[in-house]
Amino acid sequence: MKELLFFFALLLAVHCQKRFIGDQVLRIEPGSNEQISVLQSLQEEDDFQLDFWLHPTNPDLPVDVRVPIASLQAVKDFLESNGIRYSVMISDVQEMLEQEQKEMEANRRMERSSKSFNFAAYHTLETIYDWMDTTIKVLRYCTMIVTHYRNSLLDYENFETPCCLLVFQFSTGSSSRPAIWIDAGIHSREWVTQATAVWTANKIATDYGQDRSLTSILDMLDIYLLVVANPDGYAYTHSNNRMWRKTRSKNPGSVCVGVDPNRNWDAGFGEGPGASTNPCSDSYHGPSAQSEVEVKNVVNFIKQTGNFKGFISIHSYSQLLMYPHGYSCNNIPDYQELDAVGKSAAKALGSLYGTSYKVGSICKIIYQASGGSIDWSYNYGIKYSFAFELRDTGRYGFLLPANQIIPTASETWLALLNIMEYVRDHTY
Ligand SMILES: [Zn+2]
Repeated sequence: MKELLFFFALLLAVHCQKRFIGDQVLRIEPGSNEQISVLQSLQEEDDFQLDFWLHPTNPDLPVDVRVPIASLQAVKDFLESNGIRYSVMISDVQEMLEQEQKEMEANRRMERSSKSFNFAAYHTLETIYDWMDTTIKVLRYCTMIVTHYRNSLLDYENFETPCCLLVFQFSTGSSSRPAIWIDAGIHSREWVTQATAVWTANKIATDYGQDRSLTSILDMLDIYLLVVANPDGYAYTHSNNRMWRKTRSKNPGSVCVGVDPNRNWDAGFGEGPGASTNPCSDSYHGPSAQSEVEVKNVVNFIKQTGNFKGFISIHSYSQLLMYPHGYSCNNIPDYQELDAVGKSAAKALGSLYGTSYKVGSICKIIYQASGGSIDWSYNYGIKYSFAFELRDTGRYGFLLPANQIIPTASETWLALLNIMEYVRDHTY
């Protein structure tokens, strides 16, 4: 019976998946502020159905955009007529997705026959949750906290999606200690982040008592790790649309679904550019701050648990390590300290493979964007608030091949350790 259900689920998944045949991702190199304005006007153009992976912000940063095949010629003509330089970053999105699917299927077969979990592969939400469940049973200093956020599954279209956020708690003490929060995957299509979080959980699980640095951290601090911060969105990237970024909540009065959960926090909510009032936009901030259950649950959890000293959100891509604020470009009071901590962590990260990261405030390093998680955590009083944008810098973007998961996670771990060591030394 279970096999039959699995078969139908697979059939359903194959049939429902949005395809991207002939879509290209263009890398645009704006040469001036005027060209940025031109690209921003392109962003407003609904007819082209463009999907910006990196938004036009300033002439120092490239702009990556997925262009549906139907708009390709018109967009290229538009860029050329405006004298804007571009190159083709991904020549056929669907081809890459099929490669990704093929690798996942081969991995599923391998895992089934070897009865093991492969950290160098992408997994469905169900598999990740199963793995978390198994991990918990073998670890003596790890508990799992389940925050149920949905009373009725009927409210949601995807009946297979679980109704909870699963948070690992790593704690070696009998009472609660100052703690570090880490979350990944709040934007669901950033697959390397959930995979990195899985690898990281396993690293923490196996290294305590072995690795001096981690042991000394866990002897003084608790670590909380939310592996999939947007589970509905993540399930949807597997079942329907690999390019899905937002939550899956319904927007009353609109045919468009979902809110950008990283514009939904109560920090400068709805102010300024970088968050949209349009439910159809990929950066729609939602009807009100914390309207999204995923955000509200984390906020409640942080407030109830108390004593968080560090808050780290993991995104991809662009290779950046950022601190608050996003909603304002004014320096925060702890700017110098956080900048130094960030630079030290980025250096540690680069020591493994030479991967280079830029460090700065969200507003200065990418663009002004309100309602972000680390702005909220910082304003709430968690001084050591950071956000990562993991690999790469724009060869594969959100479609980073699975063979880069372990290198990405391993180098990121060095930065995380570096930050946690600093927090350990500055909280008592
Ligand atoms: Zn993101």
